[in-house]
Amino acid sequence: MTDERLIDGKAFAADLRARVGALVPAFRGVAGRAPGLAVVLVGEDPASAVYVRSKGKATNEAGMESFEHRLDASVSQDELIALVERLSADEAVDGILVQLPLPDHIDDKAVIAAIDPAKDVDGFHVVNAGRLAVGEDAMIPCTPLGCLMLLKDRLGDLTGLDAVVIGRSNIVGKPMAQLLLRENCTVTMAHSRTRDLEDVVARADIVVAGVGRAEMIRGGWLKPGATVIDVGINRVSDAEAGKTRLVGDVATAEALAHVGAITPVPGGVGPMTIACLLRNTLVAAHRRAGLADPEGL
Ligand code: NDP
Repeated sequence: MTDERLIDGKAFAADLRARVGALVPAFRGVAGRAPGLAVVLVGEDPASAVYVRSKGKATNEAGMESFEHRLDASVSQDELIALVERLSADEAVDGILVQLPLPDHIDDKAVIAAIDPAKDVDGFHVVNAGRLAVGEDAMIPCTPLGCLMLLKDRLGDLTGLDAVVIGRSNIVGKPMAQLLLRENCTVTMAHSRTRDLEDVVARADIVVAGVGRAEMIRGGWLKPGATVIDVGINRVSDAEAGKTRLVGDVATAEALAHVGAITPVPGGVGPMTIACLLRNTLVAAHRRAGLADPEGL
């Protein structure tokens, strides 16, 4: 029997991908072409290569055009920026994603700054971070957008709820806090210098954990009935099974005795990220074509 308190991100993501795919033919009909997503991979990092492959596959499955650019790890920053500028000017490309991390000799910020903000489907460009902060239409980073979708699906209106976001990265924590504020939550941001984290977590109706520390947040810290979104992906060794396994930032088994709902790891937030990337690509394609945002996404 499945536990109703476990939020099934995998099923939600599959549904979102299907909804995005169902809207592609209408765009194609108006624009005369499919939405296009360009993904740039530098070097041979095996995890990044897996992500890029699955992004390409998901893009094609949604009926969109996928453009993959694989560059050698020795590529210069200028060469990479020149490619990003070409993609920014390419009419067939609606979304550009540069897979991070980049090699040490390349400055991430300079590369992201070269992406046309209208095609910045990762939402990392400062223009999009700024638009999100001031409440204008922005490209919203995929992981926090996926977290928000899961929260709204489970809780409906979030107005007035106490939300604690643990982690303040530009990719997860900061945009997540902005999104929750936009939904009228009372938002607290916690980080490595936060005092008495346990007490901060104890008053939260919503906890979003994006830290990167295996099972750091214990079940007993959580307010009874809280909704927990566990963004963390941590590989730990399982001596008994003689292999490694993935765990989140929250001790899920313990938390189940306290929470109203929680995302499992794996199968919670993870699958939402690619689904939101497809969603953002379709939205970018509509905006670039002068069309209203597709409804229901
Ligand atoms: P970062 O390392 O950039 O940020 C981690 C944040 O956690 C920092 O703000 C840091 O605080 C804070 N932190 C570290 N230790 C503590 C502590 N003891 N108590 C409270 N806060 C602490 O990580 P990311 O934001 O990139 O990723 C976070 C996690 O989410 C990782 O496990 C990553 O793998 C996962 N992730 C999952 C994705 C998905 O698709 N599901 C996508 C992206 C990330 P400070 O700022 O003070 O250093």
